[in-house]
Amino acid sequence: MGKHKPRLWPPVPVVGSALEKGMASERGFTLEEGVVPGRELSTEEEGTRGSGPLFDNHTHLPLLPGEFISDSSGKRLSAEEQISRAALAGVERIVVSQCSLPEVQTLSEQRERFSGAAFATVYFAVAIHPNDAPRHLGILETGPDGVAQTRESWQETPLEEAIAAVESAARQSAARGSGKVVAIGETGLDYFRTAEAGKDAQKQAFEAHVELAKMLDLPLQIHDREAHADCVALLKRVGAPRRTVFHCFSGDAELAGILAENGWYASFAGNVTYPANTDIQAGVLEMPAELRLIETDAPYLTPAPYRGRPNASYLIGYTADFLADLVGIEPDELRAQTFANAREVYGI
Ligand SMILES: [Zn+2]
Repeated sequence: MGKHKPRLWPPVPVVGSALEKGMASERGFTLEEGVVPGRELSTEEEGTRGSGPLFDNHTHLPLLPGEFISDSSGKRLSAEEQISRAALAGVERIVVSQCSLPEVQTLSEQRERFSGAAFATVYFAVAIHPNDAPRHLGILETGPDGVAQTRESWQETPLEEAIAAVESAARQSAARGSGKVVAIGETGLDYFRTAEAGKDAQKQAFEAHVELAKMLDLPLQIHDREAHADCVALLKRVGAPRRTVFHCFSGDAELAGILAENGWYASFAGNVTYPANTDIQAGVLEMPAELRLIETDAPYLTPAPYRGRPNASYLIGYTADFLADLVGIEPDELRAQTFANAREVYGI
């Protein structure tokens, strides 16, 4: 199918990791049904149509002790192995969101590892995730998703202190000149996971992150789940950072129109490839080319044709191909546009 073939495609990881469990509960995503563990790729599935560099501007890697993702043979892949497989697939830049207190702290704890050659393509966004904000304040009411809230020991750290750790990680990165922290995120509002009682906590945390991004002049990555109007209202009330990204855009043409009007970016993840998501697809068409970004938000939201398996940065080319078809340009042009846009946002 491809005009730039052949490329040896890295194996797709199987489900069944600590990461899957941990992140499913923390981030509010669940893996799709129909996982086929260990299924080998056929030749038709071996690659994407585009070539040229890709920029995964929002993903997660298993960086905490005990976290992993397995490959198709069941072997646990380190973050380093995932990064090198992504490089084989043309991914030249990755922004990893470190959005829990332990993840934020890991940036200084594992400084040597992250400044090493294996992480040369990897940069970080830091924040306290919207779904963590209420827990840091001891608010544990069940949200509309019906999932019982739990509180980890590190979520007993007061919210203000946790956000101070985010600021400190961003400032340390700048002070060291490593430039590894390139954004604040993900922050925002999640009305699917959070009960009425937690909404104020989320807004308080969101506003604090917006101010932090402005103070440090860093781009902001927004998590907006079933909260479009309130996200936009808060940004307008307090003033959005110079570079604002709606990560994993989940809106429609109307929201895209508002983003475009304000010069905010929409970052599209693998769920844009799902046939039912016609609203998100309409959003793609409404966004000006210079405000479109791509991401994986791995390990969830795996693009077609791999939906149902764990996601990883090396699958981002499928989302790029899909978007190219949707807007009617060549896959290489889509890659070049989104790469240039992401460089503009993150300066890397
Ligand atoms: Zn994310």
